[in-house]
Parts: sequence; C-alpha cells; structure tokens
Amino acid sequence: MLIGQRIIAGLTWRVEARAAGLSPAARARVRDLCGRALGIARAHDCLPDLAARAAILCFHGVGRRPDPQVEEGVLPVRGLRAVLNTLRRSFRVIPLAELVNCLRERRPLPPRAVVITFDDGYANNAEIAAEELDRLRLPWSAFLPAGLIEHGRRQWVDDLRLLVHRGSRKRLSLPWEGRTLAFELDTPGRRRAALAWLIDHLRYLPEERREELWRQLVEPCPPDELADLRERFPGFAPMSWAQARQLRQAGVDVGSHGLSHIALAPQTPERLRHELSEARRLLQLRLGSDGPHFSYPYGRPASISPATEAALGEMGYACGLTLEQDTVRGERAALPALPRLIVPAQAGRILLTLWQRFAR
Ligand SMILES: [Zn+2]
Repeated sequence: MLIGQRIIAGLTWRVEARAAGLSPAARARVRDLCGRALGIARAHDCLPDLAARAAILCFHGVGRRPDPQVEEGVLPVRGLRAVLNTLRRSFRVIPLAELVNCLRERRPLPPRAVVITFDDGYANNAEIAAEELDRLRLPWSAFLPAGLIEHGRRQWVDDLRLLVHRGSRKRLSLPWEGRTLAFELDTPGRRRAALAWLIDHLRYLPEERREELWRQLVEPCPPDELADLRERFPGFAPMSWAQARQLRQAGVDVGSHGLSHIALAPQTPERLRHELSEARRLLQLRLGSDGPHFSYPYGRPASISPATEAALGEMGYACGLTLEQDTVRGERAALPALPRLIVPAQAGRILLTLWQRFAR
C-alpha cells in the first residue's frame, strides 16, 4: 500500500470510530466523507484478496438532480459514476449467474468479486443507469415488480414520500389498534419521523389490511394532489416493458421482484403463490422468458419465511436475494437468501462499506 493510501486508510478508521456517538444523520455524513476520501485516494486498489467473500450491491433509483428530501434514497448520477469507477478499477464485477454457479458448485469465488443489482424497475434504471453501466461494460441484473410495470403503477411508499414531504396537508391521521394516530407534518424532522413510522408499520401487513389503511390515510388529501405530485417527481415512475425489453436485448439479466412489490411472508399461501406465478407469467409474456433469479420485495427478515423460500424452490429459482446487510461468504452462503449491501444516496457511504468489508 502506498504511504498516502495508508495514511488515508488509518485516518478513516479513526474518524469513523469517533463518529460512533453522533446522531445517525451526522454519522452518515462522516461515513460519506470518509468513503469519498478513500475513493479519491484509490485505497480500494490495495485491498487484500480475501478468499471466499463477495459483495452483491443493491441499487435503487438514480437521478440527475434528485431532491434530497423527497427522493432520499435516489443516487445522484455523479455518485453512481464514482461507485462504478471504483468497482471497475479495484474490484472484479461478475454477473450474478457466475456467483450463483460458484456457490452451487462450491468453487472458490474470484478475488474481490462484486455483483451489481438494481431493484424496483424504475424508469431511470433504463434511462440513466443503463448507459453508465454500458459505458464501463459492467454486467448487472435488474429486478422488476412485474405488476407495477404492467399497469404503470408506483409503489405506495414512494407516493407516501410525495404526500408527506410535498403534499398540502400538515397532518395525516390513521386508525391504529383502536385509536387514531395523528402525524404532524409541519417540520422536516416530523415528516421524516412520520414516514419512517408509517413505512415500518404498514409494509409488513397482509396486503388487504395495508390497502385499507392506505385508503383511510390518503382519503382526506385533495383528489388530484397525488397525480400532480407524481408529475412533478417522475423519478419514482416505473420503466415500460419496451424499456425492459431493451435492457434484456442489451444483455442485462432481468429477474423477478414479485408482482405488486409487497412483503411476501405475511401473505396468505394463495396470495404468495399468486405474487410469484403471476409475476413469472407477465415476465414471460412481455419479455419472452423470465430470468432464474429472484429479489425479495423489502428483503428484510419480516418479508422472508420458510414458506417463501420453499415457494421459490418449487418455482425453480436459482437464488433469492435479500437486503440483509452483509457480504456473501462462500462457505456458508444460502442460495435462497443471499445477503446484499444497499447503495445509499451518498456514494461515499458504500465506498467506505466496501472498503471495510474487504479490508479484513
Ligand atoms: Zn423493492
């Protein structure tokens, strides 16, 4: 390791350790700065070739100039370039199928192997990200929520972001366990807290119950408000089937991200089967065939169960991707539930995470 890189790396460990006591937002800023410093110093070039370890990255939306408040998880295109350039220079980006084959055949993983995946099928994946990946000739996988694409529908969590941050109402209320909860939306902090509570508590409900609560939540909003907000924030729009076909023709691995983008584990067995088989039917109908990989909507333990893993197995999927934040360890990787690392909107944070995960 060059002396400059050694100094930056040492400083990074120290600064990051000190940041442990800060608020989550301040800590995220520190991690972003540390990661960017590592990227500029090209510290990832000097990572050791750790055996039996790979990272599957999970990207979501990308944008030219995302609104950091409303589109909080959307990676600016400059950040995307910084991450992809580092991956291309310092890691070995392999297709998901190659990683799955290595794990299945118990072959050693290539050193510093990274897999690139994009969840949620946003139009910007096809309009912005595809070009950047293509320019660097990096293989990637796109996971599409087939039903949302079929009907041009958006995820309710994204609609909720618009209503909470940019809607006209200063308060939302929700019937919950026998009482009415009120969510004040008059400051950015309260809006963030309301969003976090609502997303956390609604997304793991059986879908009929979630839909009912959603109706009651948005009923008092002016009728055209959501449509106007969707027009102002096209970044959350799904891609079209024509765009998905173009990706497929360009060699992108296109897989299933379920039908309606709902957590699978809390659903009835009938709904679970419907979500998987109808998604497959649409992918085959619109794209000619469907890929062998599946990515769990929400991807957390609450959306995965023995029943969902068995259903994936019955349908012949080669792997299920989760959002458990970890690298893939060759010796104990479970194909039905492979962990990934989420790429947040601040590119430096994933550069730091990658460096930390591969440094020792
Ligand atoms: Zn998703």
